[in-house]
Amino acid sequence: MSADLHRPLSTSAMAGAGAGVCGDPLAPPAGANRLLVTGGGRGIGAATVRLAAQHGWDVAINYAQRHDDAERLADEVRALGRRAFTVQADVADEAQVIAMFEAVDRAFGGLDGLVNNAGVVDVNARLDEMGGARLRRMVDINLMGTLYCAREAVRRLSTRHGGAGGAIVNLSSVAARLGSPGSYVDYAAAKAAVDTLSIGLAREVAAEGVRVNAVRPGIIDTEIHASGGQPDRVARVAASLPMQRAGVAEEVAQAVVWLLSPAASYTSGAVLDVSGAR
Ligand code: NAP
Repeated sequence: MSADLHRPLSTSAMAGAGAGVCGDPLAPPAGANRLLVTGGGRGIGAATVRLAAQHGWDVAINYAQRHDDAERLADEVRALGRRAFTVQADVADEAQVIAMFEAVDRAFGGLDGLVNNAGVVDVNARLDEMGGARLRRMVDINLMGTLYCAREAVRRLSTRHGGAGGAIVNLSSVAARLGSPGSYVDYAAAKAAVDTLSIGLAREVAAEGVRVNAVRPGIIDTEIHASGGQPDRVARVAASLPMQRAGVAEEVAQAVVWLLSPAASYTSGAVLDVSGAR
């Protein structure tokens, strides 16, 4: 079993012994710092890539379409002295996911962490107004993509497969518990399945050196709202949120990078709300 990722974190570890680089409790275990972030080129994924690199992770940045965003971010990561490369893949396509993990194997010689961040919403609608293609797309990207990537990660991280352990963090949404009536119950249902997957997979691989957790963001100021036809959503709803503001991607990244780190060594199967009390 991997050692570092499951070793109880002692006070001395927090102070530096075994907690990664230079006593940084958010640093990956020494020699186990290869991370893949899906949808890593912008939004919450990009904030996660930046923060992870600042704490010592080498990062493979997956993107679907926005090649230039991903390349610019990879340059930022390299400027921090970390390894980075970009890999195009549609996470809803099983063959592309397999090829993406093989590309990570070739570039990094292995994998120690996965952030299943790629996700999409669609325009506000009731279920009885949604077409089949939309429903399929919501499930394929938000749920099937997470399942394919988590499976490929377990095949590399688990001691059952000769791996050295590692951590998986899945991006869910508070929609999973609110249900998003009148907006996107399809998305909400897919994210609820991501929560369940995170709990079940965590238990499945707990004795194999792999931790699995989910993060449920609330309303975060990214382009996802414009992609759902509501570019003004954050400004419109901010005052009605419990903290009277939306969150920013960096606030979600803090939770993700903590869950990846040895500081979260006994946290697995958790679903962590980062939603400003929403
Ligand atoms: P975003 O700004 O819209 O970025 C989405 C990212 O996912 C992009 O990097 C995009 O790649 C990638 N992506 C989309 N479809 C993909 C596919 N089929 N294969 C691979 N990558 C794909 O979204 P975000 O707000 O950062 O959201 C990130 C995650 O947090 C999502 O899972 C989302 O559901 C979740 N979340 C967000 C909020 C929020 O309020 N922002 C709230 C709750 C949950 P390209 O750049 O190449 O297009």
